[in-house]
Amino acid sequence: MSIKDRKIVMTKTERTQKILEELERLYPNVKSMLNFTTPFELLVATILSAQSTDKQVNRITGSLFKKYNTPENFAALEPGQLEEMIKGCGLFRNKSKNIIAASRVLLEKYGGEVPQDLECLMELPGVGRKTANVVLSNAFGKNAIAVDTHVLRVANRLGLADNPTPLGTELQLQEAIPPELWSKAHHWLINHGRKVCSARKPDCLSCTLYQWCRNAQEEGAFAWNNSKTKL
Ligand code: SF4
Repeated sequence: MSIKDRKIVMTKTERTQKILEELERLYPNVKSMLNFTTPFELLVATILSAQSTDKQVNRITGSLFKKYNTPENFAALEPGQLEEMIKGCGLFRNKSKNIIAASRVLLEKYGGEVPQDLECLMELPGVGRKTANVVLSNAFGKNAIAVDTHVLRVANRLGLADNPTPLGTELQLQEAIPPELWSKAHHWLINHGRKVCSARKPDCLSCTLYQWCRNAQEEGAFAWNNSKTKL
């Protein structure tokens, strides 16, 4: 076999590096799309964002936070009062109960401050691992990767992860990506999922990650089956 006939095989690390570089080039100025001015506002906005768009949430919090924006404010409310103000988003009854209950826990256990610790955050009503990671990363600047439906899908299609669960994917992304890029990588993957690599119809023909994408290269772009997800 001549040198010309040999295939140049990239290591996984090299491929990951190329993917991250390209994602950074595509999405240079990433930040949370949710509007907030304090960690507590981000916590409330992120709880509200489940099964709702960021746009819907920003519309609701735009007026909500003018009236109520501290744990003290929310802890004093009855669920019905808050429901009225957030009923533009999905699951508003549960969210109302959770926001009020979480505010009361913050007052009782943390002096009204949002804790900067994953486990403590996950003990708050309505706060799962994804929400906790969003708060740690966007409100406190900690290295964290929140795995939502976009991150799960795109990371697995690209081959940055190979795991159908959010937790498994998060841990594999933490292995593959340098910690200082975790928060940015979360935003990069969300942007790519929204703009190019959609759930139903990934636009592989125009995707500039095509040459490094595991699914596109090895199995066809549709091999990542969304039914595998546990979100
Ligand atoms: S090549 Fe296709 S499957 Fe791979 S990241 Fe791009 S759009 Fe998604």
